[in-house]
Amino acid sequence: MIEEFTDRPVIAYFSMEIGLRSDIPTYSGGLGVLAGDTIRSAADMRVPMVGITLISRKGYFRQDIDEEGNQIEIPDVWDPSTHLMRLSQRVSVGIEGRSVLIGAWLYVHESVTGGRVPIIFLDTDIEGNTPEDRTLTDYLYGGDQEYRLKQEIVLGIGGVRMLEELGFEVRKYHMNEGHSSLLTIELLSRHRRDIEEVWDEKLVWDAEAVRRQCVFTTHTPVEAGHDKFPYDLVKRVYTDTVPLEVIKEYGGGEHLNMTLLGLNLSHFINGVAKRHQEVSMQMFPGYEIHAITNGVHPFTWTHPRLRELYDRYLPGWANEPEIFVRAGKIPKEALWQAHSEAKRELLEYVKETTGIELGPDILTIGFARRATAYKRADLIFTDIQKLLQICEGRVQFIFAGKAHPRDLQGKELIRRIHQLMRELDPRIKIAYLKNYNMDLALKIVSGVDVWLNTPQRPYEASGTSGMKAALNGVINFSVLDGWWIEGHEEGVTGWAIGGPPEEPSDPQREADDLYRKLEEIIIPMYYNHREDWIRIMRNSIRLLAYYFNSHRMMRRYVTEAYILY
Ligand SMILES: *Cc1c(COP(=O)(O)O)cnc(C)c1O
Repeated sequence: MIEEFTDRPVIAYFSMEIGLRSDIPTYSGGLGVLAGDTIRSAADMRVPMVGITLISRKGYFRQDIDEEGNQIEIPDVWDPSTHLMRLSQRVSVGIEGRSVLIGAWLYVHESVTGGRVPIIFLDTDIEGNTPEDRTLTDYLYGGDQEYRLKQEIVLGIGGVRMLEELGFEVRKYHMNEGHSSLLTIELLSRHRRDIEEVWDEKLVWDAEAVRRQCVFTTHTPVEAGHDKFPYDLVKRVYTDTVPLEVIKEYGGGEHLNMTLLGLNLSHFINGVAKRHQEVSMQMFPGYEIHAITNGVHPFTWTHPRLRELYDRYLPGWANEPEIFVRAGKIPKEALWQAHSEAKRELLEYVKETTGIELGPDILTIGFARRATAYKRADLIFTDIQKLLQICEGRVQFIFAGKAHPRDLQGKELIRRIHQLMRELDPRIKIAYLKNYNMDLALKIVSGVDVWLNTPQRPYEASGTSGMKAALNGVINFSVLDGWWIEGHEEGVTGWAIGGPPEEPSDPQREADDLYRKLEEIIIPMYYNHREDWIRIMRNSIRLLAYYFNSHRMMRRYVTEAYILY
């Protein structure tokens, strides 16, 4: 079974989360979905790749929300044997002086082009492990720092060993964020020089050889997104082959900084948009950081109704998204028709799941992403009187998003939106859909008219949901941060909110600008100048979907990162 994939060198793509499909709940948000899109494009393009991640048997969590807007977290237990095949190979890692056994499951992602990419899911729930160790691969982003460090040992160190055990020859190790950076330490242990008399312990470890094998992608300027572990914890928990002094040499003096470890032991480092590259270079001075702007997987993120439309007017689009350059060939009425059907389907789903009836002819604004402070789901509610005055009877809203179980501010955002939902009803209708996942994301990004994005600059490293919207001809209305700095052309591909990216964030100015453009440009165009509106929809496909797709992203990784050395 696995032999099919081990007959040539591969890119080993390591990620703590991978979003393959909604019923494999081993992802939490954009990072995991991007990992899934990377694998999907690799399969389409037949790039030899293997994905490696944790089994997360209890998922991230399933979200319920009570009347008051309190988030309720339900373990999302899933049965790996429904989609995955258990492999017989075992490896072990040293944790707290014990030898922890790791097993593996195989999932094969198959492309319509016939390309296949295997994904290895690591699992510590196997006989021979202590009851506690058996829970190490249960929860994605659950538990405390100690639990996280153990998971990262399983992923980074266990991952390298498992790939070897399975017979893979790895050409390049690609770390999708710092969670897997310990793989560099495992590689160091394989590059010990044979030196008789040791003057300097450092010289024994051939860091350059490791660098040539490694690629590191950093994904966020948010400080909490960079794992840091105190060395007394590392010393107690990591009891494997490489001495602590060597880890300190590359992982930082104060604490083990997983980003620093990745940066120090990779020959190619990149941020996920051009602005993010600049911000990352400021955060980590002295490192050469490149930019490979994210993209989304064309077929996966296109509504079935729009797929039909593209098949008709732009045959071949799914595997060659450059064909979107000819999106001007799609008749306006046909595009509007397809969009209206996607919208009707979404509104039906809203009615079924929430009981809220939204109007098919009302301008519908969507906002769905992880509920966390910097994404500012509530910026639109800065001035309620103004919002009422502009939107009453003319605009309706659809929200969705989970807050991390320990993100109290994120949970507060969900409560606040629920409170406003009650207060503003029926003057402005707002629906909040539960349990945001990939299936729901596709429904929302394709079924609304405008995709709203109001992050606090410069924290949105890239953002990808706006790219999904564009792929469906849905118009972006966004703060100039992340990918939108590259995609935005005012009034041509959508609209900006607030000042240029170089200026410091000014929430009041951004809110004022948001209200002004809604009132003066967006609402009048939607209701009175439908032709102009559809032109921007079509431009979104022609100028944004054309570029911000994961096929282009994958080609860039191949030519700029994977084939070096
Ligand atoms: C695309 C996607 C995201 C990322 O959304 P951003 O707006 O880029 O943060 C998060 N969650 C799910 C389920 C997605 O499909």
